[in-house]
Amino acid sequence: MNDFWKKKKVLVTGGYGFIGQHLTKKLLNRGVNTSNLVFFHKNDYDLRKESAVEDLFKKLGQIDLVIHLAGNVGGIGFNRVNPGKVFYDNIMMNTLVMEYARRNYVEKFVGVGSVCSYPKFAPIPFQEKDLWDGYPEETNASYGLAKKMILVQGQAYREQYGFNAIHLLLVNVYGPGDNFDLDSSHVIAGLIRKFVDAVWDDKKEVVVWGTGTPSREFIYVEDAAEGILLATGRYNKPEPVNLGAGFEISIKDLVELIVKLTGFKGRVTWDTSKPDGQPRRMLDTSRAEKEFGFKATISFEEGLKKTNEWYRDKKWNSRPIFP
Ligand code: GDP
Repeated sequence: MNDFWKKKKVLVTGGYGFIGQHLTKKLLNRGVNTSNLVFFHKNDYDLRKESAVEDLFKKLGQIDLVIHLAGNVGGIGFNRVNPGKVFYDNIMMNTLVMEYARRNYVEKFVGVGSVCSYPKFAPIPFQEKDLWDGYPEETNASYGLAKKMILVQGQAYREQYGFNAIHLLLVNVYGPGDNFDLDSSHVIAGLIRKFVDAVWDDKKEVVVWGTGTPSREFIYVEDAAEGILLATGRYNKPEPVNLGAGFEISIKDLVELIVKLTGFKGRVTWDTSKPDGQPRRMLDTSRAEKEFGFKATISFEEGLKKTNEWYRDKKWNSRPIFP
């Protein structure tokens, strides 16, 4: 398998991002030569602009693989405030990066899509065949539909140009390096930050969002990166593939786990003016296993523990005195 990677020149868009940082490390471990691994800071190339994308591909010369992770992405709070920007930024980046990959004879394009592309009420567990059976949940529709267009673009390019584009539907990702900004984070990073800070600052109450009744599935970031790389190496078909860990937990139970993990002893208050988002989420992960042998390996307990430690360590470094 490592032979597959040795001579490849790989462009990872979003390489400095949350998943990107883990994925680029794994690429080096798989034998990709440092000089053949290309990623850049988002300020260096604005992928929403055609001139920047054109320039990027011109400068790079021949690229074999594009793993397209770049996106404007955030949690439910962020999506609610920024649906227009989320739509525009993502649809522009995706469309341009794939078009220039095709024009520059890239051998394979890996589109990393999202569980948000599924219909709001898709039957549990979500199967790839149900992807088109309804409109996504409203809070994440502009994101989910922009992402879904990478699938459409890839299938169309495969048909017309023989372009090898694959599409992965990634469930909620969490882990070290996640975005812990409370206005834009996803739920796990948001909760860890709220509860760790509350313990730290001796707060008696933490406010969490919604009713707690929705369910989510979560995949640890290193598992997600592994799944993407297995697919990159082994999967070459037009049909999308779910990438997840194959379990479901309610937000209420998640809050309880994080309360225990952080040792918070105060009161938890639910702010029901905040949206719940999609009622349930859990993927059928059998296609990924069958097609490219991917199965998530990090238990949820271990993943949460590592994420919690990562956030606490960061805080320890930035605070002068540990209480
Ligand atoms: P989603 O999975 O795309 O809907 O996005 P999130 O990860 O942001 O939110 C998942 C669920 O967690 C939603 O039902 C939120 O209402 C709930 N939630 C509870 N507390 C929080 C919080 O502090 N931050 C975030 N982002 N979500 C929270």
